Amino acid sequence: MIGRDIYNGLIRHIESEIQAGRRHAALDEKLVAEFLALKVDSPAPQAGPGAKPARPAPPPTVVSAPASATPARALAPATAPAPAAADFATLDDIATAIAQCRACALCNSRTRTVPGTGNRVAPEVMFVGEGPGEDEDARGEPFVGAAGQLLTKMIAAMGYEREEVFIANIVKCRPPKNRVPEPSEIEACMPWLERQIALIRPKCLVALGATAFKGLTGDMKASITKVRGVWHKHGDIPLMPSFHPAYLLRYAPAKKSAWEDLKKVLEFLGKSPPPPSKSKT
Ligand code: SF4
Repeated sequence: MIGRDIYNGLIRHIESEIQAGRRHAALDEKLVAEFLALKVDSPAPQAGPGAKPARPAPPPTVVSAPASATPARALAPATAPAPAAADFATLDDIATAIAQCRACALCNSRTRTVPGTGNRVAPEVMFVGEGPGEDEDARGEPFVGAAGQLLTKMIAAMGYEREEVFIANIVKCRPPKNRVPEPSEIEACMPWLERQIALIRPKCLVALGATAFKGLTGDMKASITKVRGVWHKHGDIPLMPSFHPAYLLRYAPAKKSAWEDLKKVLEFLGKSPPPPSKSKT
């Protein structure tokens, strides 16, 4: 067992090295293995559900060794407990906290966080996608790439401007190589979206793709082809699952089904799609 003071002192030393700009260190593998085998004499305090916003964790450190030395081992990605999303009273506060969030490993590869954009005051529709792609990661806005342009056309076909709806994602940081977010990453990030929905209070939600549906319903085995086009609920808010625009770009015949889903949304809202000449495309 080693004392908590020694452990904390070591952590403080590492943090001061990082703040001083040091990004690399040569490590003796044997010493690292011995340190990792040590046990600390009391558990570190954990941030709980009611915790106040935590201090942002330092940036990840890449550990490398000179060519002549024993190859060093990369440290595990830095993560830290997320602050309690329910503590945040405004969407701006949430966006600021998301920018500092390190609750899952996606924080290590993001360029910018993507909290969401659009009408923040009880919009008729809130669209929820999977996660940021390359373009979204670069700009910090959701659905701005090719799939986003198609979503904008779908929104216009419904008779809305993009600014009249709210658009967000299940995870706020880009998964590497646009892979599907892991269940643990969805679980870590969902409190942010839940708080956004609670503040925005949309009249209905549209889940774009399987990942969005899984995150919003907790049904992690759902198949989008089976659940789409049928009303579900997220809490007390009606939820319509449909295809993700990226899928529609890959498989155009599915656009007809997606449009049927969006027409059901309009029907629920007591609206009809505008004539093509009057749509806001
Ligand atoms: S994906 Fe979500 S939970 Fe993970 S680091 Fe980004 S904001 Fe935090």
